[in-house]
Amino acid sequence: MIARPPEPEGPGGVYIHIPFCSRRCTYCDFATVAGRDDAMEPYLAALHREIAELQHGAPQVIDTIFFGGGTPSRLTGSQIYDLVQAVRNRFDVLPGAEITLESNPEDLSAEAVARIRDAGVGRLTIGVQSLDPKVLREVGRGHDGDRALKAVEDARAANIGQVAVDLIAGLPGEDPGGWTATLRRLAVLRPDHFSVYLLETDKDTPLTRAMQAGRTARPEDDDLADAWEETTDYLESVGYRQYEISNFARTVPGERDRVSRHNLKYWQDLPYAGFGLGAHAYHQGERRGNRRDLDGYISDLAAGRDPVAELDRWDPVRRLEETLFMGLRLREGVDATRIGARYGLDLQESYRTVWENAEQQGLLVRSGDRIRLTRTGRLQSNAVFGALLGHLPLE
Ligand code: SF4
Repeated sequence: MIARPPEPEGPGGVYIHIPFCSRRCTYCDFATVAGRDDAMEPYLAALHREIAELQHGAPQVIDTIFFGGGTPSRLTGSQIYDLVQAVRNRFDVLPGAEITLESNPEDLSAEAVARIRDAGVGRLTIGVQSLDPKVLREVGRGHDGDRALKAVEDARAANIGQVAVDLIAGLPGEDPGGWTATLRRLAVLRPDHFSVYLLETDKDTPLTRAMQAGRTARPEDDDLADAWEETTDYLESVGYRQYEISNFARTVPGERDRVSRHNLKYWQDLPYAGFGLGAHAYHQGERRGNRRDLDGYISDLAAGRDPVAELDRWDPVRRLEETLFMGLRLREGVDATRIGARYGLDLQESYRTVWENAEQQGLLVRSGDRIRLTRTGRLQSNAVFGALLGHLPLE
């Protein structure tokens, strides 16, 4: 029997989903819509209502706001500003809060970045994905490589605070030379942060269906592993620290690393509210997800109904497993004593065979209170996560 843990201490975060895109990329399975700009105003009205009136279990004190999508850079400056104010009206937003907005290169110019900055955003993530023109065309992106590079330069010039870029390794048409060039050309511009994801081929997307039908080649696991190795080696050699399996923060001596403080909430078992289409939230041990159909979401809010579609009150064992999965993604790993105290068990002892087997395979190290994955373990993290899953019986 393990204990139901108390709510973690420390401020939470707020996620806001903006689902509108100008087109749909073939690999995307997010809650998005293309060609529905007619619904922007009613959607924003619904979003404001949800922020003001729902999710009462959410943490009151927050220090991060994250606009994700979809394509939040399609909002005007005043629409972004109004949403930030709505969050400030509802929550106690700590001074120095991190406010992040996801963007696509085709929406950015020096003026557009200045508008986003003046609306209160201090961290801009840019969805570059690749600089290879044939890759970008193949997956339906709305920009080419030069436009993406220009967007990073414009963001830098506008002094928005932090500039982050998102990439995906393993997209169709990508070759090792093109991937190397993408990394190098972007690193020269010194973004503060890289998120580099490996293409997932188990989602229901047009790209996955094309692979299943044999119209597009599926990336080989070894090629994905090589891309991850190259990315890690290269970015670490030019001043970035891999602080999470897919995330790299620029390190500047004497300054705090430029990590994503919002995403740390997910990896450190901290609570967050989530507003908007398909948005997820996690607080009071409960994970909830909103419905993913745009018109249903809008009409629920118009009628004063909660648009929740999934509500999962986690068993403490399930929650502990999730805490371990997410925490082990971080390079610093997890603090076994602190987590054990929260759940009322000896973490070292309860999972002893899992830790020992992973240590013997070179996937994991234990040092004092800390348990963390090795570099090989970060690459093969699913082997460790699979062993953790179901090790303790659900209650
Ligand atoms: S722009 Fe982003 S959110 Fe929109 S379809 Fe493409 S990948 Fe998905």
